[in-house]
Amino acid sequence: MRGLMMDFPLTLKHILQHNERLYGKKEVVSRTEAGVHRYTYADFQKRVRKLANVLQRLGVKRGDRVATFAWNHYQHLELYFAVPCIGAVLHTVNIRLFPDQLVYIFNHAEDKLVFVDPSLIPLLERVADRLKTVEQYVVMGSGAIPETSLAPVLAYEELMADAPEDFEFPDLDEWDALGLCYTSGTTGNPKGVLYTHRAIFLHTFASAMSNTLNISERDVIFPVVPMFHANAWGLPFTAVMVGAKLVFPGPFLKPQDMAQMIQDERVTVAAGVPTLWIGLYHALKGGSYDISSLRALIVGGSAAPRALIEGFEKDFGVPIAHAWGMTELSPLGTVANLKSYMEEWPEEERYRVRAKQGMPVAGIELRIADEQGNPLPWDGKTMGEVQVRGPWVVSAYYNDPEASKDAFTPDGWFRTGDVATVDPEGYMEITDRTKDLIKSGGEWISSVQLENLLMAHPKVMEAAVIAVYHEKWQERPLAVVVPVPEHKDDITKEELIEFLRPQVASWWLPDDVVFVEEIPKTSVGKFDKKVLREQFRDYQLPTE
Ligand code: AMP
Repeated sequence: MRGLMMDFPLTLKHILQHNERLYGKKEVVSRTEAGVHRYTYADFQKRVRKLANVLQRLGVKRGDRVATFAWNHYQHLELYFAVPCIGAVLHTVNIRLFPDQLVYIFNHAEDKLVFVDPSLIPLLERVADRLKTVEQYVVMGSGAIPETSLAPVLAYEELMADAPEDFEFPDLDEWDALGLCYTSGTTGNPKGVLYTHRAIFLHTFASAMSNTLNISERDVIFPVVPMFHANAWGLPFTAVMVGAKLVFPGPFLKPQDMAQMIQDERVTVAAGVPTLWIGLYHALKGGSYDISSLRALIVGGSAAPRALIEGFEKDFGVPIAHAWGMTELSPLGTVANLKSYMEEWPEEERYRVRAKQGMPVAGIELRIADEQGNPLPWDGKTMGEVQVRGPWVVSAYYNDPEASKDAFTPDGWFRTGDVATVDPEGYMEITDRTKDLIKSGGEWISSVQLENLLMAHPKVMEAAVIAVYHEKWQERPLAVVVPVPEHKDDITKEELIEFLRPQVASWWLPDDVVFVEEIPKTSVGKFDKKVLREQFRDYQLPTE
């Protein structure tokens, strides 16, 4: 028997309108190259309607892809809402990709228009003559358009100046495409994830829940994670829905800049990848910033080292909410919040739980499976591939049957390529990407666990562990370590190995440790193990 409830489409327009009716006085603050920009959600709403008129005047039709090539700021936020609410598709392009990847992505997405920050024009100029479908470029920022070979080129603020303020957003189908984001895959071509209105609507609700990221009107949200990385983890949508003040860093991502912004704008929740917060932690140790407003740091994208979680909590009283997700999951999959009764557990136990990637968000079903696809027990020991399904999980890659072929199990679960254990309380702990696991004599060694332990050593700033060829064991771990600057001359391989020895099985101990100034990072700031493996491909491990 069917129920008797309204057929009400779950589209972004309703989130936008909810904000308009209730939160007009709340602020959006952006640091831009021209200085700090601030306005209210009432101003934002007016400009989203103006932008909708601009888009229509430029010929954007339902289903057209509109690309952004930009840092995090208010104009990007306006595009986040205006583009999907008129029925077009917001394609957020990763500004850190290589030229060939950019060309592939723009052409594969068949973008019609590109909105670009003035400072990023040179990156686009390098590829523009290879873009087959782009008809126009619109330059954001507030000044005059810099000298450029991009053509035809228009100025965002000029277009906005004469646009009418009224716009009636159409009723869309909740299954219509809202956005497109390509994963920063380390192999093959980037793969497109085409979000629906329905997926983002439900993801936005789920992300705000106290059991998830716990975001409300009272918060001041600082998405440092780029708006081209899985929609800044959905935070722009969440903040607009709940009416939280938003603070954007623009291109200013240095630890001191972030600390200043947190202090000046009284940020309560900041979100980004671990490397950002490792930098912030050291800046806070060395400087005198008032970060007392901060009540949570959301950390995801790669494993948050336990030392970072303990450090922020003990030294600054700021808890880290460790989350796991993927572009393919819109992106939220799990969050490591403690259950109430765990608050009574001994400190050691609590940190052990909080350093895990956490429990599935309500709406996401999660299992671990062996290579034959058999589900494995949640005993905290058995490792298997993480597989998920749910209303904000991708069902196929965009126009890419080849990539979609192996991404799903025969019974319809998405294969994440991550390997994890799940404990009886339901907390997942990622042990590796399938391709990063180190296979020594047929047994698996978790590079992530070794990295986390190493990063707990006071002289270590960053550590990445990779597999290096070994004649007898096929692969053995090599640790690549960036020392804390004050200890770069007195850190030794021996002390790190002795530090690890009581904490892991002896056959897990890295065969060697090399000290470097920097670990290569991917376009979204994660350790780039592929580049690292390439750098150390012929590395001779000590024979001892
Ligand atoms: P992306 O789509 O670029 O965000 O990449 C998703 C991948 O990042 C996941 O499949 C994981 O391998 C990794 N990842 C994301 N969050 C975490 C986390 N908290 N701990 C470990 N790995 C993570």
